[in-house]
Amino acid sequence: MNFYRLLGVLPNSKPEEIKRAFYHKAKKFHPDVNPNSSTLFKYITQAYQTLIDSNKRKEYEAFLSKKGLLETFSEKFVEILGFTDKPKRGTDINLQIKLSLKEAIEGVEKEVLYQRRVICKRCDGCGFDEESVVVECDGCKDGRMETKFGRFVCPVCLGRGFLIKNPCRDCKGSGHTKVTQSLYLQINQGVEDGSTKVFKHLGNAGLNGGEYGDLKVRFSVDFGVFEKVGDDILLRLKLPNSPDHYRYLNIRVPTGEKVSIEMPQEKPPMKIRLKGYGYNKQDGTRGDLILLVL
Ligand SMILES: [Zn+2]
Ligand SMILES: [Zn+2]
Repeated sequence: MNFYRLLGVLPNSKPEEIKRAFYHKAKKFHPDVNPNSSTLFKYITQAYQTLIDSNKRKEYEAFLSKKGLLETFSEKFVEILGFTDKPKRGTDINLQIKLSLKEAIEGVEKEVLYQRRVICKRCDGCGFDEESVVVECDGCKDGRMETKFGRFVCPVCLGRGFLIKNPCRDCKGSGHTKVTQSLYLQINQGVEDGSTKVFKHLGNAGLNGGEYGDLKVRFSVDFGVFEKVGDDILLRLKLPNSPDHYRYLNIRVPTGEKVSIEMPQEKPPMKIRLKGYGYNKQDGTRGDLILLVL
């Protein structure tokens, strides 16, 4: 059985963390408190006594990892079927955030809501709670099956060595629950279209004490009628009449304000440059807005 998962600690936990996890569990599962859970308490105590003693812990880790070559191949196969008690990192979550051009240029704070799987709070990921009743697994010894091909994680109890008759109510024994996570994103001025920001450990929970995956946020900027050319922004304008029909040209700049400019009396195509109305530059200033009058 996976003692780490049983106590709800990570495989690299320090003795203090193991002690704390054991006391936390003992408060719920001690037979004086909960007469139904004496078998579970026996397992939890066994896990604690093994992990707190450095020699026993080493022996236990050797037991978990000991295998021959054939066994390694076969175990990979069994793992693909989902029968494993090894720590496995959680999956990453990819999110796409759409920004208006104004938001991208000026920077913005946004609240993002997304679904993720987290370690169950009720059972700390071990899959059983105070009301659970367990029975020993007949098919294996300490969660391992001996076969002529080697020793494998028992597919019936998934390496626990016991079966839970009524698993944790909140996670149904999986050790994970789905939650809606809220995240405040401070998006900097001049964020690049298509760029990605990684938030460590904000993805899905791992299996058997494996670490959390990451959250990857990809920004996409809606340029609308504008085009980004380096630090400048280009706007193509097709005038219905020749330029001498207009004295002023009223346009909406990328950040949304209206700007009125004097119409140069030239023949199209012509370029009009509006300084500082373009995209953000590295030095904190802004490029130009280029009107291409056709
Ligand atoms: Zn079993
Ligand atoms: Zn649970």
